[in-house]
Amino acid sequence: MENLFKSSENIYKCLHFLSNIGVPFILIDTNNQVKAVTPPAVEMFTSIYMDESLSIVGRKVNDILWFIEDNFNHFQKHSISNYAFQNEIKIKNIKWKFNGEFIRTKDDIILLLNYHLEKDEYIKKALLLTAIEDSSENAIIGQDVDGVVISWNRAAEKIYGYTQSEIIGKNLSILDNDRSGKNIREMLDTLKSGEEIKNYEVKRLCKNGEEIFLSVNVSPLRNYKGEVIGSCTISRDITENKMLTEKLYDSEKRFRNIYEQSPIGIEIFDSNGNTLSANKSFCNMFKINTISDFKYDNFFESPYIPNRIKDKVKSKKISRLVCRYNLKSNKTYLDSENEICYFDMLITPILNEYGDITSILAQVQDITKVKTIEKMVGNFTSLSDDIFCILDFKGNFLEVSAAVEKILGWSKEEFSHKNFANFLHIDDFDATFNAINSLLETGRITYRNRYTCKDGNYKWIEWSSFIVKEDKVVYSIGRDITKRMENEEELRKAKIAAEEASIAKSRFLANMSHEIRTPINGIMGMTELSLMTDLTEEQTEYLNVVKTSSQHLLDIINDVLDISKIESGKFKLDLVPFNLEETINKLVKNFSILANKKYLEFIYFVEPTLTKGSLIGDPLRLNQILMNLLTNALKFTDRGSIIVCAKHIPSPTGKVKVQFSVSDTGIGIPDDKMDRLFKTFSQVDDSYTKKYGGTGLGLAICKHLVGMMNGDIWVNSKEDHGSCFYFTAEFLPVDDSKQASCSKNIDTPAHIFNQSENTPGLGSKNVYSKTILIADDNEVNQRFISTLLYKKGYNYLIASDGNEAIKLFNENKVDLILMDIQMPKLNGVNATRVIRDSEDLLKKHTPIIAMTAYAMSGDKEKFISVGMDDYLAKPIDFQYLYDILDKYLN
Ligand code: ADP
Repeated sequence: MENLFKSSENIYKCLHFLSNIGVPFILIDTNNQVKAVTPPAVEMFTSIYMDESLSIVGRKVNDILWFIEDNFNHFQKHSISNYAFQNEIKIKNIKWKFNGEFIRTKDDIILLLNYHLEKDEYIKKALLLTAIEDSSENAIIGQDVDGVVISWNRAAEKIYGYTQSEIIGKNLSILDNDRSGKNIREMLDTLKSGEEIKNYEVKRLCKNGEEIFLSVNVSPLRNYKGEVIGSCTISRDITENKMLTEKLYDSEKRFRNIYEQSPIGIEIFDSNGNTLSANKSFCNMFKINTISDFKYDNFFESPYIPNRIKDKVKSKKISRLVCRYNLKSNKTYLDSENEICYFDMLITPILNEYGDITSILAQVQDITKVKTIEKMVGNFTSLSDDIFCILDFKGNFLEVSAAVEKILGWSKEEFSHKNFANFLHIDDFDATFNAINSLLETGRITYRNRYTCKDGNYKWIEWSSFIVKEDKVVYSIGRDITKRMENEEELRKAKIAAEEASIAKSRFLANMSHEIRTPINGIMGMTELSLMTDLTEEQTEYLNVVKTSSQHLLDIINDVLDISKIESGKFKLDLVPFNLEETINKLVKNFSILANKKYLEFIYFVEPTLTKGSLIGDPLRLNQILMNLLTNALKFTDRGSIIVCAKHIPSPTGKVKVQFSVSDTGIGIPDDKMDRLFKTFSQVDDSYTKKYGGTGLGLAICKHLVGMMNGDIWVNSKEDHGSCFYFTAEFLPVDDSKQASCSKNIDTPAHIFNQSENTPGLGSKNVYSKTILIADDNEVNQRFISTLLYKKGYNYLIASDGNEAIKLFNENKVDLILMDIQMPKLNGVNATRVIRDSEDLLKKHTPIIAMTAYAMSGDKEKFISVGMDDYLAKPIDFQYLYDILDKYLN
């Protein structure tokens, strides 16, 4: 070596050679300045200083080679020709081992300086090359080929949570998210082969167990021989980014889904109006496969979008339109049918943060169905004769159908947006507002009122209105009922007229029967009296005929009066306590005589449960029904028997229900005539009328009476075999305590079975010295009654009106008064009042018995209420008269 470096010249010659052997070679001049270096020396300095652009030549030894300064000083101080040394020094935490020799030549000093780094030091040094290790945001980790961590910067501490002291010397595999460390092993294998790993995304495990995403770059580290001795990992935490991206991806996916799945057709244009995309619904609506098939793909050129909408979009306003689209005009439409569709489009310009349009969004809905229905409803309402209208809550017409013109003469335009009150008849305001109030309550109502026509007339409209609260509207359908109202009015008038006529008829019948009854009473009374005198057999027979004829005539009049009262609705039952058995007994006794005369067997049966106690009902009317049926049975039966039955049948009402039957073995009723039976004035056969007589009213009256007693009437009959008439009636039970007094009132004499027995004899004259005042304006009645009284031995006085009656009463000692109700000057009721008033002072009470031609229900109560004690029905039955006199005078 000494020879080699004899002269600088030689040295320069040798530099090239020295470079090749890789030993750093430094030439130092006498001023202790670096004069020349070989490339290995440059590499060494770069490696130590980590500065590629380091200038070495011309620098002082102390300045650039400070780390061997002591050795250099030693060499200079002793002026020795060569000095070999070894030196260990830490530069930037890396332990360098130097091995060098100073050689003094003639002009210069030669320094041969070799250096050596341990493996770890080497890795550290390599890492230092990154220079930014500690200040870096990135985790910089140095590891050997087996993955043992050698270096660990602050960012790594922050990212992974391990401190340097915790992790240096441990294997990287503890960071592997696959806990077996497989991922990291694979990575290390890749590095061993000298490959670099760039921008590789991995998942790693932190100290706290959390998984993080990292983007890593790993490069192999080599020693000076070029062997891979470890690697350096630079990793960036991308967890947050990753999450964000994932979120973004998710939301994008979601929005895309919504976009694609939306039933609303969506088309997006760019700011120039060119179509960007359209979703599935849009393509389906227009029957295209993709948006590129669509004929009008520029928003601003589409003939379907009116200019005003385009202008609106240009001025950045949202707009809406309904467009008609003929699918046939679309050349790529898939359906071969000619279809006109309606679409509702909402156009929204989308603006960026500077307010510029970036895209245009069109949302399209197919409203063809709605339109079709609208059209149908429109046709329906416009063709209808009724007025269809919609009103707001203030009563203004929002919509009105064409019928308004037909009915009222106003055009739709004249009518709509006006308030209904403008058209209403002034007299119908109250009723209409009441109707509206209940409409608000119930939600639905029908009412009628009058509306003004254009020609000034009024029409009656019947409205059906209902409310839709959420829309704040009222739907009303109006029908012209003017004709109907006129008809109804006519009918109403006709009905009133008919009712008046009916009342007049009833009144006439009532008056007539009263008028007819009075002379019949006379005839009957006088006949009765005549029959009490000595007569030839022939005379008796004639008078008996007169008597039965009069009775028959009276029955007919009573029937006519009954029917007219029933028809005018004036008929009422007179409910009093009575004994059923007694009522039937009395009737049966009368009829047995008549049945005997015709040689008919007569049987009656009353169920024992009905014979005890009293019932509340109308015994007179019950009698009338039974009498009617018995009279018919007798009339239509020539041989055989008549049977009367009364049996108790159960009733859920708690009332006493009785079923009566009257059966005979008479001529019977043909099947086809049955339905006529219970109708007014109907008889089974006209020829029967001739043979049997009668008015055809009896059964009709019975049916009404039975109905009033909550019962039914029906018949079983066979022609030539007889008939059985049934009827049911309900009565109220009477509690026993009241029974005694009730039955007493009703008691009827028991001896009428044999009339001859009871005919009063003349010999009984003057038995009583009692004076009876007869107040009656009818002379025949005066005569009849006075004769009957005379025959019984009573004294009597006669008054022809109320005033006379009062006068006679005051002037005489009167024991009983028989008071006619209808009398001239002062009627019986008022006369009774006067008499009772005068008696009150004297504290006495003279029995007053009312006499009336035909007592109506309630009349009896009226007579009693003015102070009368009892009443006798005209024609006066002499036996009743005697019984009453007995009752009040004894
Ligand atoms: P009339 O006063 O005519 O008897 P009704 O109403 O009592 O009126 O009877 C109507 C008709 O019913 C009678 O005319 C008769 O034809 C028929 N009829 C009623 N009862 C009987 C009966 N028991 N047997 C046969 N026919 C009867």
